[in-house]
Amino acid sequence: MRGTTLVWFTHNLRLDDNPALYAALDSEQLICLFVTEPSWFRANRYSLQSLGQHRRAFLQQTLSDLDNRLKALGQKLIVWHETPLETLTQLVQSAKVNRIITAEHPGYYERHTLKQLHRRFPHLVCEVIDSQTLFRREQLPFEVAQLPDSFSAFRRKIEKLQRVPDAPLPTPTALPPPVSNLANKVIELPVASQHTRFIGGESGANTQLDYYFSTDLPSTYKETRNGLDGWDYSSKFSAWLANGSLSPRRLWQRIDRYEAEVVANESTYWLKFELLWREYFQWYAHRYDSKLYKFQGPFNRSPLTSFYPERFKAWCEGTTPFAIVNAAMRQLNQTGYMSNRARQLVASAFVHELGLDWRYGAAYFEQQLIDYDVASNWGNWQYLAGVGADPRGHRKFDLDKQTRIYDPQGVFIKTWQGEENCHPLPNSDYYDWPAP
Ligand code: FAD
Repeated sequence: MRGTTLVWFTHNLRLDDNPALYAALDSEQLICLFVTEPSWFRANRYSLQSLGQHRRAFLQQTLSDLDNRLKALGQKLIVWHETPLETLTQLVQSAKVNRIITAEHPGYYERHTLKQLHRRFPHLVCEVIDSQTLFRREQLPFEVAQLPDSFSAFRRKIEKLQRVPDAPLPTPTALPPPVSNLANKVIELPVASQHTRFIGGESGANTQLDYYFSTDLPSTYKETRNGLDGWDYSSKFSAWLANGSLSPRRLWQRIDRYEAEVVANESTYWLKFELLWREYFQWYAHRYDSKLYKFQGPFNRSPLTSFYPERFKAWCEGTTPFAIVNAAMRQLNQTGYMSNRARQLVASAFVHELGLDWRYGAAYFEQQLIDYDVASNWGNWQYLAGVGADPRGHRKFDLDKQTRIYDPQGVFIKTWQGEENCHPLPNSDYYDWPAP
């Protein structure tokens, strides 16, 4: 196609296996855009920030890596700090853009921006391409509106038909030239990060891919995956998958290769199984749209919870009566990461022990997690709060039993000072009664 194409990068921050970028290769000129939204830096409806410090630093590294890779092909990344709608509107007008291509996004606002833009410019070509899922929409064995209500039913359908993802696309070797005189309008994101191994961008993702698949770790994943602390018990790909500096199809292909060259066993199957969980939540977000954030979830189940500010504060800071919860929350606050097992435990405590409104827990994770992914986060929270895709209704974990199983020597709790920070719950009833 002739003319100027704008590729709006969102959570597909890579050149490898990037179908949106591929679709733009036939343009005369190309704008590669990323928008940092002002709303990410303001308090949201939960009085929290959408983009906390850990993910900010990771994002900064990712954008700089992407820019370097684009520069090597004669392009550059344009970063604007403005609402996406305003940014796109200004660029369509000033740079005479006739086509916008972006990755399909499970987030509600991201998807609605393009609809609004299309209303403003009815002749603009807008292409939205599946880039963050293993399967394209048309490869699914059902319409998205018919997505099964449980993960197991979803997985069985995919496995029964022996559906496998397409091979990933290679990195382009040449790109159309940039539009001249386009400058960045940016704000500073912090560059420093305490994470030595979560290095943002495709380069960091490739380092972890090469490391992980050069070890025996994939062949023991099923036995180790419930670990609480350390780098090697799980794959750690989530942060790169979340902002798209790693393609899920590339990861799937690396597992295939490992299975062909090293070993195929229950553990390698389980890695794929977990990627199918991720896949399920991506399509779940598409199917339920704004209901992903709804207190009652998509099925209108009202949880018997309320909101107690002091309990919420204690949970966030890791000063609840539960040592394992405290340890995990302190780990999250300091590193931006928490294991899958611990995420389940702190979410269960949040809903079932503290009686809190699950959406605040999800919003706190959104702020803190380095691997925050809108679909996986809100979908998992709904699941644990008993308002989502769980046929069993709710998941309540026995925290003492879980501690005995997963932290039998108390090493995790000791490392993150879970015990020292145990405090009884503030007695909120006290305030409800008039003084005698
Ligand atoms: P591994 O155990 O090595 O798994 C490999 C990959 O499979 C992960 O990178 C991830 O992409 C996928 N995966 C594994 N478990 C799940 C799952 N339960 N749901 C969806 N995908 C899964 N994951 C996120 O990526 N972003 C989030 O914001 C997020 N929020 C969560 C909130 C709660 C309450 C819970 C219980 C889980 C959440 N998860 C989230 C899922 C899971 O905890 C993380 O994906 C995992 O801990 C990341 O570490 P890893 O890459 O080493 O995972």
